[in-house]
Amino acid sequence: MCRVSIDLQASAKLALNVPTMRFDVLTLFPEALSASLDFGVLGRARARQIVDINLYNPRDFAYDAYKRVDERVYGGGPGMVLMLEPLKRALADVKSQSDRPAKVIFLSPQGPTLTQEKVHRLTSLDRIILICGRYEGLDERFIEHYVDEELSIGDYVLSGGEPAALVLIDAITRLLPGVLNKSESAEQDSFEHGLLDCPHFTRPEIAPEGRVPAVLKSGDHAAIARWRLQQSLGRTYLRRPDLLTKRILTKIEKRLLAEFLEAQQVDSQAPNLQNNQPAP
Ligand code: SAM
Repeated sequence: MCRVSIDLQASAKLALNVPTMRFDVLTLFPEALSASLDFGVLGRARARQIVDINLYNPRDFAYDAYKRVDERVYGGGPGMVLMLEPLKRALADVKSQSDRPAKVIFLSPQGPTLTQEKVHRLTSLDRIILICGRYEGLDERFIEHYVDEELSIGDYVLSGGEPAALVLIDAITRLLPGVLNKSESAEQDSFEHGLLDCPHFTRPEIAPEGRVPAVLKSGDHAAIARWRLQQSLGRTYLRRPDLLTKRILTKIEKRLLAEFLEAQQVDSQAPNLQNNQPAP
């Protein structure tokens, strides 16, 4: 689905006062999440009813009086695993809370790594059910039968899926229409055009640590845009060369980058720059 039609659908929902997206989160520690959901951009999006975020605890769906949801792993060894049955019951209950079709995502270090491109694709969904693991994770049969997709937030291991759920909810929400104010637009953010963002400055213009680049004070909008693009290209080349391998540079962009590297005394004639392949 193209971005314009996603935005139109979202705007229609806004006009009808229907939250653009519903998140249901299954977590053993709802308190760990709820505090973070009330502040900043997320808090505002909830207050404006652009997103509806609901938290559920699988413990409420346990069978026994001890509200047990985890068990030792088969095969021996350390570690506990979240049991199939409470998760199944919890998920069925969560699904029944709304008619909106839902995608079930398990936050897991074993899933593909989340990218801004993926976040954009997820903004087209109506409803996402997030499953936060703990301990060694979930009984594999739950993943096989009830999870639509696994997603990792990076190649490291967290103690639980809650921080990852928060990352995902935040990254999606800030892209939904009506959430960011004009001054906070995501348009220039890192990754939006396959580049890192340019550097930013604010008052004072002159400080012991340096002065603001003159072009930013010139009032020449074209020159400022050109400087920003050049900085973005240069930063991306220096810090995240992998991003440039996925992006074909225009002639102008190549020239701006070559100028940037020349100013930094980086060899802009390196053959790998000529065909858009950054240096290793
Ligand atoms: N034994 C699991 C493994 O090595 O794949 C790790 C379990 S981890 C201690 C507990 C839970 O934290 C996971 O089930 C998952 O929900 C969450 N988690 C850990 N690292 C994550 C990551 N990089 N991205 C998303 N979720 C993660």
